[in-house]
Amino acid sequence: MPETEQFLLKNINVPGVDGIEVYRQHGGYEALAKALQSDPDQLVEELKKSGLRGRGGAGFPTGLKWSFLAKNDKPRYLCCNSDESEPGTFKDRMLMERLPHLLVEGVLITSYACRVKTAFIYVRGELPYAADQVQKAVDEAYEAGLIGSNILGSDYSIDVIVHRGAGAYICGEESALMESLEGRRGYPRLKPPFPAVIGLYGGPTVINNCETLCTVPAIIQHGADYYASFGTEKSKGTRIFGLSGQVKKPGNYELPLGIPLRTLIYDERYGGGVLNDKQVKAVIPGGSSTFFLGPDKLDLPMDYESVAAAGSMLGSGGVIVINEDTCIVGAIARAAEFYRDESCGKCTPCREGTYWLTELLERLEHGKGKMKDIDLLVDICGNISGKSFCPLGDAATSLITSGIRLFREEFEYHVTHGHCMVGDKHHATIS
Ligand code: NAD
Ligand code: SF4
Repeated sequence: MPETEQFLLKNINVPGVDGIEVYRQHGGYEALAKALQSDPDQLVEELKKSGLRGRGGAGFPTGLKWSFLAKNDKPRYLCCNSDESEPGTFKDRMLMERLPHLLVEGVLITSYACRVKTAFIYVRGELPYAADQVQKAVDEAYEAGLIGSNILGSDYSIDVIVHRGAGAYICGEESALMESLEGRRGYPRLKPPFPAVIGLYGGPTVINNCETLCTVPAIIQHGADYYASFGTEKSKGTRIFGLSGQVKKPGNYELPLGIPLRTLIYDERYGGGVLNDKQVKAVIPGGSSTFFLGPDKLDLPMDYESVAAAGSMLGSGGVIVINEDTCIVGAIARAAEFYRDESCGKCTPCREGTYWLTELLERLEHGKGKMKDIDLLVDICGNISGKSFCPLGDAATSLITSGIRLFREEFEYHVTHGHCMVGDKHHATIS
């Protein structure tokens, strides 16, 4: 087995691969042709065998999700969740901008496997170029007979619609995404029922993240066993790690699950080390909704189980590195402002709680806080997490609770000295 394989990014640097001609010259749409020769149920089984888990953040088994689609006479839908908005995450944007046909091929294979006749690609509103690229790819695919009636001469017909969001983080939550697609304000729905049972327009709906769908063609092309030969026993295959923060070479790196965090940060092929050769103070392993890891966790294998066992989550794969020069209170305050601004306002714990968290953090950051504010922050987090309507509420608390647990002395220093222990920085950010 080679050390690693680029299932998604192999051709990303080929000039013109965002166009259909070059994409096809490099094997594009061969997996779709192969899939159309198979029974849809076989494809679902193949995906189950591959062990692919959702790359949006939750890591739910993809094949299993497909197999949960309710069997009734209502029209089925596919929604590609390309509303990538998690701070520290920028992989789906790159895939859409540079490999839009890979996404279209993944959407088509998945739609066929799930017996879907209408697919939507929901693109984050702030990514107009990505949306243009995906729309262009969809248009080219229609033109080439890859989307539309009887694609590639088969008896399968499918329509694909690109939808641009209007700039709300909450619309990446799958039920809010469906509300938005249906023309309503993006408020989350109660779950269950899950979208697989009652989804878009009340029909059984499969919702997968952009990267997840981009992985499907390679699994069909190379076979589930080959894909599953990478990664770990329970976290199979490769994923894109989006490395950002204070590293020498930030960027998206496709690597097998289970790669040590230290390799990702320090290897010359990837992060190349910490900026200015400073020490790592903390790492956010999977986007801002996940919990801080301390520098003692640098040898952690980056797979779902190991990161969970270390007290965090692999999440969206957005790895944010924070060095010793960063004010952790300021970094947490910036993240808290994001969640306050993006709270949809539907439920009280999140709507009110995220406001009070930012008030307290701002006070502490600027040396006007009291010692009891630190415990008050923890108390408010306890009244948001697990008590909110959707996962955004929980997410708003993860950096605060883990930050206070790991770096309480920095919070206390702000109170006792009126400024940060890291020089006199007051406004350090997480990137
Ligand atoms: P979830 O665990 O509730 O669900 C994961 C998926 O599995 C969903 O599609 C859900 O419908 C499906 N599912 C779960 N149980 C099911 C069942 N019994 N039957 C049928 N389907 C079932 O998680 P979530 O709320 O979808 O996602 C939360 C994650 O999103 C967070 O962990 C965070 O990392 C991530 N996130 C990502 C971004 C981003 O931009 N990529 C932004 C915010 C949050
Ligand atoms: Fe809206 Fe926040 Fe409640 Fe989710 S937790 S429904 S984002 S107010």
